[in-house]
Order: sequence, then C-alpha cells, then structure tokens
Amino acid sequence: MSSASTKLIDSSSDDRFDFTCRSEMDACLAAFDKNCDGKLDPNEFRQLCKALFRDSTGQSYPLDASVADIFNLFDVNADGQIDRDEFVYCWNNWIKIIVKPISALLVIDVQNDFICGTLDIRNCPAQQNGEDVIEPINHLLDSVDFDAVFYSHDWHPEDHVSFVDNLHLRKLHESSPIAGNNAKLYDTVVFDGDPPMVQRLWPRHCVQNTWGSELYKDLKVVDNAVKIYKGTNPEVDSYSAFWDNSKLTDTKLEAQLKMRNITDVYVCGIAYDVCVGATAADAIVSGFRTILIDDCCRGVDLLDIEKTKRNLTKNHGIIVSSNQVDALVKGNDRRPELGYKLALNLKAMKQPAPKEVN
Ligand SMILES: [Zn+2]
Repeated sequence: MSSASTKLIDSSSDDRFDFTCRSEMDACLAAFDKNCDGKLDPNEFRQLCKALFRDSTGQSYPLDASVADIFNLFDVNADGQIDRDEFVYCWNNWIKIIVKPISALLVIDVQNDFICGTLDIRNCPAQQNGEDVIEPINHLLDSVDFDAVFYSHDWHPEDHVSFVDNLHLRKLHESSPIAGNNAKLYDTVVFDGDPPMVQRLWPRHCVQNTWGSELYKDLKVVDNAVKIYKGTNPEVDSYSAFWDNSKLTDTKLEAQLKMRNITDVYVCGIAYDVCVGATAADAIVSGFRTILIDDCCRGVDLLDIEKTKRNLTKNHGIIVSSNQVDALVKGNDRRPELGYKLALNLKAMKQPAPKEVN
C-alpha cells in the first residue's frame, strides 16, 4: 500500500486530510486494487470498507450485508466492478465525507422553564433533572471543535395552543378523547381544524422574552453560535427545531446547516423524548448523518425515551456518549451505520424523477 493511501485510510492521528490532491484518490484505488486491473471488485471494495470503518484505536468495525448494497450503488453500470470513473464519484461523495465530516452541534431547549421553571422536568414521570445536561454539554463545547453550534429556544406567544390554561380559547374536535371541561395538564386532546390537530397540554412555559425562555444561566454559549426559535406560531406546537408539528413553519435550521455544508448533526438537550427526539428524526429526514448524545439529554418519560432511541437507530442514526464525540468529529472513529446512511442519501438523490403519465 502506498504511503498516501495508508495515510488516508489509517487515520488515527488528529490530522485533517488534504483532498485537493487527485493522486491521493488514485493511490487509494491502487492500494485496494489487489489484482491491478484498475477497478475494485466486491471483495476489494469490502477490504476498503474494513479499512475505512474503524474506531479511534484502529480496530475495524464488523461489516454486514449493507456493504454489498453500497457496492451496487457505486457500480453504476452494474458490471460487478467499480471502475475509475465510478470510484471518482465514490471518493468525492462518500469516502471524503466519512473521513472528514463537517459537524454541527444542536443544543435543544436548555432553557430555565425546563430546568427550574414552570415545566421543570423533575415533575414529569421520569423525574430526571434537566440541570444534569449542563456539565457534559459545556465540556463538549470546550473540548470538541464543531464546525457550527446551534441553540434552539422554545419560544411561545402568550396565546399558544399547547398551554393548558389556553384551552378555552379554541374549540375541540368531536374526536377528542377528552372534552374541554375535563381536560387537565399532560392530557392529549384534539383541536378542531382542517385537519384536526392532536395536542398534548403543557403548563404555560417558555413565553417569549420572559425569564423562563432564557437559556439556563450556567450553559456555555459559544461565539458565532446560531439561535433558532421554534413554537412561535400560536396555532401549532413545535417539538422539532426544524419544523413545527404540522410542518407549516420552517425555522430555517435546515437551510442554515446546508449553507455551512454540514454533513453530521449531533443532537443533545431537553427533552430527550420530545424536542430532542423530534429534532433528531427531522435531521435524518433532511439527509444529515445524525448522532444523539445520550448523556447530554434528559427527558419526560422513560418508555418514550426508549422509543426515541429505537426510532433513531432504526433509521441509521447512532447514539453515543459525550466522551466518544471528539473522535467522531475528527473522523478518527468512523461508524459503518453512518456510512450506510450517507450511501442511502446518495441513492435517494440518484433516483430519477417519476415519469409523467400520459
Ligand atoms: Zn413548548
């Protein structure tokens, strides 16, 4: 194996790589082209994947059948070989991103009301303490070189639909499991509308420009961070930092991430099974490789937290602890799940538009 390709694939140093050199790509192709025919067959490609997907100690991750799917994606002419032209696409759109991801941290709703205010999650069924996220998030911000950091704020007007004390302001739909006079805190009702809207009733919280909606005082706020405000439409709740629950209002988070060429989105904050989970789910749908930082999240209900985790991994996101984040951001810990997710995104982008029916 040439030294250039060894450097690329055996990345256990802290160096970021220079991809401007085309010969590095050719050196990599040559290194895994064992029979020297200028192409990669499925077995040669598998060896490349074994070298690519390694943890920060250099240990290869076990590979599953998804490697064959990935091979087929890059073997555009389906001749059973990845030739040089096909490898150029693979290199530019897949290998380079896996080795050198561009990473954003999303800190979700670490606000007073959820930690020590009107919606203090210690009073919720899981009885978790939102303050526990502060130290590990601050440590990440101090020690990991993210390419961008975003802080979301739940940011409601006074007449917001989610507040239990605003129930009298709107009509319930006949399908609502609970009638207006009987509804109480944390119940789920259905509001009248086209279409009718399911809504859980929360205490009044995170009202715009109040103490409750401020970020918690001990949370570190880094320079050049971007603040995202959600739940600003009185008629619809917004758990995700990307979209409201009815997909009517776009917070522009996706556009801001894409403007910065972000490939990998790390999600943490409060509440794990509500706004953090919804944000991570939308990040996946928007095509980002998505990483949830378990010890930097606290939630409302233990069963719902488990459901959030299952949903994420089912959709090719990963769950890590905060001490694993630095190696992932540096491209020294390269997970096959995230590589597969990226390949699926490329495949979706390549699907031809549906033909018009005459
Ligand atoms: Zn809210």
